[in-house]
Amino acid sequence: MVKQTIQIFARVKPPVRKHQQGIYSIDEDEKLIPSLEIIVPRDLADGFVNNKRESYKFKFQRIFDQDANQETIFENIAKPVAESFLAGYNGTIFAYGQTGSGKTFTITGGAERYSDRGIIPRTLSYIFEQLQKDSSKIYTTHISYLEIYNECGHDLLDPRHEASSLEDLPKVTILEDPDQNIHLKNLSLHQATTEEEALNLLFLGDTNRMIAETPMNQASTRSHCIFTVHLSSKEPGSVTVRHAKLHLVDLAGSERVAKTGVGGHLLTEAKYINLSLHYLEQVIIALSEKHRSHIPYRNSMMTSVLRDSLGGNCMTTMIATLSLEKRNLDESISTCRFAQRVALIKNEAVLNEEIDPRLMIKRLQKEIQELKDELAMVTGEPRTEALTEAELLQLEKLITSFLEDQDPESRLEVGADMRKIHHCFHHLKKLLNDKKILGSSTVSSESKDQDCQPLKEDEYRKLQDILKQRDNEINILVNMLKKEKKKVQEALYLPAKDRREFRHSQNPPFPPGNPEEGQKLPLSSAPSQAQDFSTLGYRSSLLHRKTGMREEVSLGRQEAFEIFKRDHADSVTIDDNKQILKQRFSEAKALGESINEARSKIGHLKEEITQRHIQQVALGISENMAVPPMPDQQEEKLRSQLEEEKRRYKTMFTRLKALKVEIEHLQLLMDKAKVKLQKEFEVWWAEEAANLQVNSPAVNSLDHKKPFLQASDSQRELSQLLSNKSSGGWEVQGQGAGRFNACDVNARKILPSPCPSPQSQKQSSTSTPLEDSIPERPVSSIPLTGDSQTDSDILAFIKARERILQKKCLGSN
Ligand code: ADP
Ligand code: MG
Repeated sequence: MVKQTIQIFARVKPPVRKHQQGIYSIDEDEKLIPSLEIIVPRDLADGFVNNKRESYKFKFQRIFDQDANQETIFENIAKPVAESFLAGYNGTIFAYGQTGSGKTFTITGGAERYSDRGIIPRTLSYIFEQLQKDSSKIYTTHISYLEIYNECGHDLLDPRHEASSLEDLPKVTILEDPDQNIHLKNLSLHQATTEEEALNLLFLGDTNRMIAETPMNQASTRSHCIFTVHLSSKEPGSVTVRHAKLHLVDLAGSERVAKTGVGGHLLTEAKYINLSLHYLEQVIIALSEKHRSHIPYRNSMMTSVLRDSLGGNCMTTMIATLSLEKRNLDESISTCRFAQRVALIKNEAVLNEEIDPRLMIKRLQKEIQELKDELAMVTGEPRTEALTEAELLQLEKLITSFLEDQDPESRLEVGADMRKIHHCFHHLKKLLNDKKILGSSTVSSESKDQDCQPLKEDEYRKLQDILKQRDNEINILVNMLKKEKKKVQEALYLPAKDRREFRHSQNPPFPPGNPEEGQKLPLSSAPSQAQDFSTLGYRSSLLHRKTGMREEVSLGRQEAFEIFKRDHADSVTIDDNKQILKQRFSEAKALGESINEARSKIGHLKEEITQRHIQQVALGISENMAVPPMPDQQEEKLRSQLEEEKRRYKTMFTRLKALKVEIEHLQLLMDKAKVKLQKEFEVWWAEEAANLQVNSPAVNSLDHKKPFLQASDSQRELSQLLSNKSSGGWEVQGQGAGRFNACDVNARKILPSPCPSPQSQKQSSTSTPLEDSIPERPVSSIPLTGDSQTDSDILAFIKARERILQKKCLGSN
């Protein structure tokens, strides 16, 4: 058992604006416990709630200042927890702090750079690396990802659901068994055998979380996310299994309701968040006070799930994330205060070992087989089947003649076969009962005489008893197993069918749908690596499903999306990452080729050395002398070349492996960015469509059931609009047409990006850059399909452009 208080660390986020001097200082004297001093400026201290103090000091295990990078955080905070997790102890790392203080950055990582990966990806990488190194045990890893929002749990990894809102995700509920163990019903566990598989699950969950978030719920700042790695290990041949769980937790923003000052729906949420964190605080307070017998874990879902992590069987670490800017000082102080309380909580971590009933059954079955074999060896023949009819008849004949034999010395000889002996007794008993033979003395004396082999019979009995006992044990264990299975099924409620489906979906028979991703790492030169990339296909197809990206997006919408994408701020990040990815691909390709070269060179060198050996031996034989005792210089040279080549090969291989992880990560980041873009576009599109319906009579008059090109004034206007485009201009007829024309240049700035200066408009208005904003195809060639959905999409798009142009022109005038 390991007794330990919860470890607390602080991390200060770099400020958005220029560093404000004198707000805090860190004292990290080697001999003393590091402390963080927060200095409240006088102007703020006055208004500070009932408090005139100007400086606050808090102790932490360590304090990481703004310049601490992700690697440092992992090495100092997460690695020790991961190590004890690998040894079989439960572990938890949770980040606590106000919104924007860097919790997600610390736990999951930044969305742009590979070097920004946070604790989860780094820990996964470390865990799988260690597991690979240790061949003395058999390990199994599973992943689950739970989001708690408004006291409701949601499974972020359920493959059956296409999430477009949180409600679409399966609801996870808590079950408590009689031993007060918590089970999460509906939370799916997914086996991950490699780092890539685990990473895919992380990104899948994050994507689901992002998709489910709406501007109304802002779930990412108001929900708690618990990413859990479940590890079981056992030594080969042992029936004892060790289980450990590692929770990596990104808590909701800890800011107070008073400060958010919101009302209505949002207030309910804020209250909930506060409720949830308030219950966490209550648990922490109860735990930090001595002699408190009742700890109110059950008050909230989060404290129930994290029950073991708080004052229980777990090694727990808290990271207080701080955004030490002037306006955030009160929140930062309250975060530090919370941490000081947490540091008082003592946990007792134990190794979680249990006997696996399935393995036990296997072992007992083996023992039975061994006993049976032993029995067969003693008796000289196997005794597995029942006696045949002929044998039974023969036995009965023997019994009859034995009974009829008047010779007191006569014996009933059936051989050393328990089945026959039992049958004889059984038959005699039957005869005795049936015919009421009273001359039992004869029989019994005869039977006693049968004890000619008393020792053997004893032995049989013993063996038989053992067999019976084992059979009983197996029955008990089978029952136990059935119960366990039922419990687990109840707890997880993941039907086998779905698990099968999930496994299937992990190996899709088709290539990834996104052509941009068709650019696979050309690792055919390094065959052992190539297969690992199959997970990419799985990921992209899942993402496709998850984002609900329809294969056939209607034309108007598609065009609008293209323009939206071009002007979106994130497209820069996507492009940057694309560039890096391209570089990495070509580096990987070059490396693959070099590795291939090195490999064939190694082959050649080996061949040469062998040839040299053969020559030496042949020379020795032909000259009738032994192989020269002196080392052959040429061979030495070849050998050192071989060693050198092997070293080169290994270095390149290691690099290729690292590249592979980086490429995978970058692709996942890009996927995520694309999904985000798509989502923002959907929101924008919906808003535009809604505005249109309110403002535009053209669209108001649109009856979805009718083909739209029927004569109404506005529709005629539209069809005219379409044909005008084909003649070169994107002119709007009627009022204000001239103004629209002048603004066309900026038509592609559909996004709420800043309106260009009038000057830049003038400059560009001489050219006709519309070509690059509108796809090559003339708009008039856009088929009006008669499908009301598609047509109204086109309509919506055109109207949206119109509206924005109008706004812009009015604005710029
Ligand atoms: P939270 O999850 O606490 O609301 P985030 O992790 O989302 O906060 O951080 C808010 C913003 O600050 C993000 O854009 C993130 O990339 C950035 N950020 C946070 N911590 C750091 C850090 N240590 N270094 C650089 N950027 C950071
Ligand atoms: Mg966050």
